[in-house]
Amino acid sequence: MSPMSIINEPTISSNGVVRPTFVEVELSRLTENLNAIRRHVTPARVMGILKANAYGHGLVETARHLCRIGIDYLGVAFLEEGILLREQGIDAPILVLGGIMGNQVPLFLDYNLALTASSVEKLMQVEHEARRRGATARVHLKIDTGMERIGVHYYSAGELLDAALRCEHCEVEGIYSHFANADAADLTSAQVQLERFMTVLQECESRGLRPPLRHIANSGAILQMPDSHLDMVRAGILLYGVYPSQEAPRTVAVRPALSWKSHVVYFKVVKPGHPVSYGSTWQSDHMVRVVTVPVGYGDGYFRSLSNHAEVIIRGKRYPVIGRICMDQLMVNIEWETAYNGDEVILLGESGDAAISAGELAEWAGTIPYEILTNINTRVPRVYLE
Ligand SMILES: *Cc1c(COP(=O)(O)O)cnc(C)c1O
Repeated sequence: MSPMSIINEPTISSNGVVRPTFVEVELSRLTENLNAIRRHVTPARVMGILKANAYGHGLVETARHLCRIGIDYLGVAFLEEGILLREQGIDAPILVLGGIMGNQVPLFLDYNLALTASSVEKLMQVEHEARRRGATARVHLKIDTGMERIGVHYYSAGELLDAALRCEHCEVEGIYSHFANADAADLTSAQVQLERFMTVLQECESRGLRPPLRHIANSGAILQMPDSHLDMVRAGILLYGVYPSQEAPRTVAVRPALSWKSHVVYFKVVKPGHPVSYGSTWQSDHMVRVVTVPVGYGDGYFRSLSNHAEVIIRGKRYPVIGRICMDQLMVNIEWETAYNGDEVILLGESGDAAISAGELAEWAGTIPYEILTNINTRVPRVYLE
């Protein structure tokens, strides 16, 4: 199987039939969001983060659009995401943010992907492979300033910097770190991380090592830590128009690019005392009209939204009732009107009504990131220019 069919299997039949349930991506919103972020961080450059199928927006199409509008850099989590982008003709610089396996190093060179050097040993592996083939590898050194994930601890960064200075086949294009709490109301620990990173950058400087791209800011830090913007920021969720947390101040105005829509596929009248769906968790004490919508937890609409979520039909919000099934859910429209074929908005806006990823996240007991990345590849993506 090619990586295409593994990562982003489209649910569109060979004769072009698309499900009545789909994700709509307004590409112009991505443009507006990128421009707003740019104005806010200039002269820092912007890396657009495309991991997890571009936060559910579709890896390849989102990358194409970001390249059209002149994104400076792209960031992905895994090697295979980077390879897929190259195979689809994306030629912008790409950094793979995740940890690498030694046997992957040749592929980074084959596909001209920048890699994250998160230890002296990894950096040496890269240097050896690049020397063996007479090539130059593009690397970003990863410093751990308090996340305890990947990267060399800030207090032993000197070893990595010395090793980088000895490399003749690595172009040290960047050095970076990652915040654990930049979207919080209390920025104490984020400030400590930033200070640790700045100290490492001074150690770089004093060794005469000057990576042109020093970066640490994610969406939270873009919004509320201007001192952290440095040479480049890494914009993930904010680029898609969603704020990383309730607490972070909304210093950049962005709007969501993604809507999730379906259509009414069935209508029925339900009598009092007749429970709806598996487990019989919901019933009415009066006659109600119930519509069925062809979307479920098998598409990534969390089952924990059962009896908690609302959807928009004809510009009004109505509750999802009973357990959400794998492929279907039921909505109580009381005694109001809806017809088969009516649009149902699971996430997005219609007139004055709107349901945000943040709201769904609260109902489901998670964060907006997971709402977006959980919309799986069974749901076709439609792009509006
Ligand atoms: C995911 C990720 C980002 C983007 O985070 P957002 O909060 O979505 O902006 C930035 N840097 C790294 C290393 C990441 O893994």
